[in-house]
Amino acid sequence: MLYESTRGGTERVSFAEAVKRGIAPNGGLYVPTEEVYFDSLDLASMATLSYKDLACEILKHFAGDFTEQQIRECVERAYSDEHFPEGIAPISKLSSNLSVLELWHGPTCAFKDMALQILPEFLSKSREITKESDEIVILTATSGDTGKAALEGFRDVEGTRIIVYYPVDGVSEMQKRQMITQEGKNVSVLAVEGNFDDAQTGVKRIFTNQDFAALCKTAGYKLSSANSINWGRLLPQIIYYFHAYFSLVQQEEISLGTKINFVVPTGNFGNILAAYYARKCGLPVNKIICAANSNNVVADFMSTGTYDRNRPFHTTISPAMDILISSNLERLLYDVTGRDAETVRDCMASLQAQGCYSVDKKTINSINNIFWASSASETQTEDTIRSVYEQYHYLVDPHTAVGVDVYDKYVISTGDMTKTVAVSTASPFKFNKSVVEALLGQEAVAAQTEFELLTALSQHTDWEVPTPLQDLDKKEILHKDVCQPKEMMARVATILDLPQEEKKG
Ligand SMILES: *Cc1c(COP(=O)(O)O)cnc(C)c1O
Repeated sequence: MLYESTRGGTERVSFAEAVKRGIAPNGGLYVPTEEVYFDSLDLASMATLSYKDLACEILKHFAGDFTEQQIRECVERAYSDEHFPEGIAPISKLSSNLSVLELWHGPTCAFKDMALQILPEFLSKSREITKESDEIVILTATSGDTGKAALEGFRDVEGTRIIVYYPVDGVSEMQKRQMITQEGKNVSVLAVEGNFDDAQTGVKRIFTNQDFAALCKTAGYKLSSANSINWGRLLPQIIYYFHAYFSLVQQEEISLGTKINFVVPTGNFGNILAAYYARKCGLPVNKIICAANSNNVVADFMSTGTYDRNRPFHTTISPAMDILISSNLERLLYDVTGRDAETVRDCMASLQAQGCYSVDKKTINSINNIFWASSASETQTEDTIRSVYEQYHYLVDPHTAVGVDVYDKYVISTGDMTKTVAVSTASPFKFNKSVVEALLGQEAVAAQTEFELLTALSQHTDWEVPTPLQDLDKKEILHKDVCQPKEMMARVATILDLPQEEKKG
């Protein structure tokens, strides 16, 4: 299987090369050039596989330059019992029509672990396969969840280093503590004075500085990114859609071949795009329901055919979805236009220049045949956290609550009673302040630290605090450095011990 860029060009690269590069040289995203399709006989033979065996089965079709042995090693390391002690992707039934797929049982309690545990393994093997001698340096600016998940994934992975920048004013107490206590020989964590955009802009400036890239190269380093534009991050997410489906078959909720819906809380459009690919690979999926918070740029696109990021940015209680540029939509556009790289290039150029683009009727119709989209306000999100708890004694985090709220809107609007899986993207304890406030009111969170609230939430609900979040406030703080945005490049130079005179950045 080879990969090509959504913005055209004749170059096709292997899986290993696509993973190593992250993004295509012409700015496009890598997509598979061939269809992978599992027919009903294939599905029947996959239906009883364990998560790891299923992962190997699916991955081998997309990573043909890896041996089955290499794929197996990646999978065994990533999805070990040590990383996922309570099971990898358990599914909980809420009602006769709605089940929840819990993707937060990994080391950082958010769904990003599902991909960021295995991406470093792919990268490490890709270095071997392509005989890469340079060390890969991952640079990431984070608004919270990605940074910690990337740190956990890359810690002590051979041939890689990771540097994470987080904005001083942009992450929760819990998220910050998760990062500054990070262990590992190859990890660095830096606070940046400013907000997420400052950190993100700083990282982009480092990536696009050719002199700096050359300097790194001379010293034996290659810069790369762990962002969801990397195909190596998207691919592992396809697996859990299959696994969820087969879990419902095993629980006798459905029989093999019955179509189901998925509802996915959406930010950068990565998670939901994996659902689209799963459907394309032959998984019996009816509708994929796209759930946005008040930053509902994608939901608006699906109803109007115009993507317009020129709008106010809202800071919400589901911060991982506070995004106005959903990068992975580019892959969907490419696919539904029948691989029309010219259209994609035009749209992306227009997005860059005017902040918006429009697609034709045919394109938006084919998207709407598969997707249904809506959004949840802050109040609706809080109400959903409360009502799900009252109705089912089940706790959802604010991101998952956005999904459940939009699912309710979908049922009211369409009357569709198809069995649906709501994808749950974070442990409720990771966003405990918003959860406690929704359940118990503002007074309950006043003057309490997030660490105190962990206990409060646990006592109120009888749910256990996830192990990775326990005693976080007692762990040793290992990363204390704070820098100005303009110092970010110099810090990389210091960390990598690059020649002195270029450090001024
Ligand atoms: C990243 C994230 C999302 C959004 O996922 P995308 O793949 O960017 O659409 C939703 N919920 C949580 C908790 C996340 O960390």
